[in-house]
Amino acid sequence: MAEFKVKVLEAGFINHDVKRFMVQKPAGYTFVPGQATDVAINKPGWTDKLRPFTFTSLNKWEYLEFTIKIYPDHNGVTHELGKTNAGAELILHEPFGAITYKGRGTFIAGGAGITPFIAILRELYHNKQLKGNRLINSNKTSSDLIYGDELQMMLKEDLVNVYTRENVIGFLDRRIDRDFLIEHISDFSQYFYLCGPDKFVSAIKAILLDLGANIESLVVDE
Ligand SMILES: Cc1cc2nc3c(=O)[nH]c(=O)nc-3n(C[C@H](O)[C@H](O)[C@H](O)COP(=O)(O)OP(=O)(O)OC[C@H]3O[C@@H](n4cnc5c(N)ncnc54)[C@H](O)[C@@H]3O)c2cc1C
Repeated sequence: MAEFKVKVLEAGFINHDVKRFMVQKPAGYTFVPGQATDVAINKPGWTDKLRPFTFTSLNKWEYLEFTIKIYPDHNGVTHELGKTNAGAELILHEPFGAITYKGRGTFIAGGAGITPFIAILRELYHNKQLKGNRLINSNKTSSDLIYGDELQMMLKEDLVNVYTRENVIGFLDRRIDRDFLIEHISDFSQYFYLCGPDKFVSAIKAILLDLGANIESLVVDE
């Protein structure tokens, strides 16, 4: 299995528990937006602890970007990444993953499940092909948004933010359930891109199929 040792160029928190890493890009390294790679920290005790993370950068950028939710509650890889900064080294592997853009549709993300869509939406925006795509972005509260301002700028009225625990007037404060999907989606023959916690993805997938979506039109990393 190919391994690529790369330096962290810059790292910093973009909200209370999500950290953005800019890392060196190995020569000739490319990926399809939506893909991920297995990442380890190149430091004693951590080199064999591989965890998958998605590229949120574009291929044309000179560096790779990862956007990683840190779980500080136990001594896992993301906890360690929370303490990993510029100058440290990561070990990357080959890109992999099933979530890639197939055509216009609705992207439905739960929490850090937005990361493959960040890469795809950034690329579509850059290529002036974003129009006609929509994003339904579910988070616990607005403080959990990842690149919220950029998504708003790119998608404008094609972005629906859903907060499951905001409790503030003016916010869509609810879950993505059957009624929500009936209300917000008029065409079930389009592509649907789903990413988030397993339960979130399986529940939404079942509702979409029940409402008439085609199994071939669902793009899910399973
Ligand atoms: C293809 C793919 C792409 C991904 N891309 C991204 C990405 O771009 N960004 C991103 O943020 N995530 C991404 N993930 C998820 C990411 O891989 C996991 O969050 C990461 O592996 C967690 O590693 P960890 O060692 O910190 O936690 P692990 O030890 O692997 O634990 C993972 C989960 O279990 C819980 N958990 C486990 N043990 C304990 C414990 N003792 N106490 C409390 N909680 C515990 C954690 O809270 C967490 O929810 C992706 C996953 C896949 C499959």
